[in-house]
Amino acid sequence: MERLREALEAWRRELGEDHVLADEATLARARTATFATTQEIGAVLRPGSTEEVRACLRIAHELRIPVTPVSAGRNQGYGSRVPARSGVLLDLGRMNRVLEFDEELAYLTVEPGVSFEQAHAFLEERGSRLQLATIGGPPQSSLIGNALERGDGTGPHGDIFQYVCGLEVVLPTGECLRTGPGRYPHAQAASVLRWGAGPGLDGLFSQSNLGVVTRMTFWLAPRAACLRLVSGVLEDPSQLGPVVERLRLLRMEGTLREAFSLWNDYKVMSVLGQYPWGETRGLTPLPESHRAKLRAKLNVSPWHLNFVLEAPSEAQAQAAQERAEHVLKEAVPALSFTREEELGPGALRQVPSARNLRMMYWRKRSPPPEVPEPERDGCGFIWLSCAVPMTGTHLETALAIAEPLPLRFGFEPNLCVLGVSARCAYLVVAIIYDREVEGEDARALACHHALQQALGEAGYYPARLGIQSPVLPFTPEDDSPRVLRTLKAALDPHGILAPGRYLP
Ligand SMILES: Cc1cc2nc3c(=O)[nH]c(=O)nc-3n(C[C@H](O)[C@H](O)[C@H](O)COP(=O)(O)OP(=O)(O)OC[C@H]3O[C@@H](n4cnc5c(N)ncnc54)[C@H](O)[C@@H]3O)c2cc1C
Repeated sequence: MERLREALEAWRRELGEDHVLADEATLARARTATFATTQEIGAVLRPGSTEEVRACLRIAHELRIPVTPVSAGRNQGYGSRVPARSGVLLDLGRMNRVLEFDEELAYLTVEPGVSFEQAHAFLEERGSRLQLATIGGPPQSSLIGNALERGDGTGPHGDIFQYVCGLEVVLPTGECLRTGPGRYPHAQAASVLRWGAGPGLDGLFSQSNLGVVTRMTFWLAPRAACLRLVSGVLEDPSQLGPVVERLRLLRMEGTLREAFSLWNDYKVMSVLGQYPWGETRGLTPLPESHRAKLRAKLNVSPWHLNFVLEAPSEAQAQAAQERAEHVLKEAVPALSFTREEELGPGALRQVPSARNLRMMYWRKRSPPPEVPEPERDGCGFIWLSCAVPMTGTHLETALAIAEPLPLRFGFEPNLCVLGVSARCAYLVVAIIYDREVEGEDARALACHHALQQALGEAGYYPARLGIQSPVLPFTPEDDSPRVLRTLKAALDPHGILAPGRYLP
């Protein structure tokens, strides 16, 4: 306590009174997620520059105070802005400048507070012909926080961390490094080459607690002239395997250049509507007869397939459509192709939207507000995202675990299969509940842990972790735990940075 008081004084001297917050409203917000947490927050620090981040960490290092960074703190479903362990929050939201933009070489360099909606508006204002991947999460989410979590989005650069370079990282001791060629003076290729000469360090700082990233470059993709939305429904879930086999073929050969998504009925219904409390008289999980009724009411099928074909010319778009139709037609008989012009100008462009946030209110008894604030509103929401090789057999095996298990805990299996790359899909499960219902917080966490355990035992491990499970409950077979401990001890000798987040 004495050390915290000393640290607060030192941080106030460095950042000014206004940027070291310890009022109850701020702290309450910082310790509330969309599921139960017990972590305490001593203060929220709001540095405005890399130099101030360095000063914050030097003080934390000297006084041994745990500090966890957030960029926008919108990691909803994985813990929002709550750290894995009690400590102080380093909120990087004030560092929200776009530092560099190059239309010709197609890149954007930003600070951690830059959000998806801000970056999108920046490109729009300049009439740019380039696009950034867009996520289905809150538009106020940060580019850097998302990339460091190895988030997924739409567009050709949807596997987001694959398309970044030039990280500036402040280490827990206050030292600062740049990854790639940018470490040298006047490096001309700092924003266009990932590695440079020597070991590549970028990956070390994603999904880890080894440094605070204060700058990152995102490679942008040219907006294609011709876009077509491809949609289809699967009335028979046994067709999922064959569909995924065919989608892999389209992905591998390059006809399909971005992630496809397969949503089950619960996922579609949770975005379109809410749990039918009246009709079910409070019974959960949704009884099969009501599931069928709700499907009919909302015009929803067991599974929905969507992806976008991009091509530089009408002739190439037509050829891609014919190819996709040929490959998919037997597995998805009712496939529709819609030109972007038919949907409205720019309708298929990567515009950040809050549309999907409605799903967090599925089990609430009042409608979602215009501006969702799920933590305030007591929405219960937990993600589990695991990696599944892109074959029909693997998908069927993983689904045979993920579909029945949530029902045993009283939750609908809300599922999405995301074709993030040609070889690997993410099976993303949402556990949705109402935190105001007694006992649900505990049941939802138990469901998450059981699902993670069952999928892991079958070899399908998470692609990303939330603070509901900050370290995987499986023992690696190799020497990685010792090597990672050595790295952590070397870079963070007092273990002050985000303790318990991915690494001890
Ligand atoms: C309905 C819904 C849909 C969603 N859809 C998607 C989706 O399509 N794709 C997707 O990827 N996610 C999705 N999400 C999850 C989440 O909202 C996003 O991933 C979001 O980008 C994470 O929040 P953030 O960017 O504000 O990161 P933050 O909350 O700021 O940070 C996330 C993590 O990274 C660490 N971190 C943050 N900044 C730094 C830094 N500068 N240096 C070091 N470590 C740092 C933090 O400690 C934290 O562990 C969705 C969520 C919801 C509720």
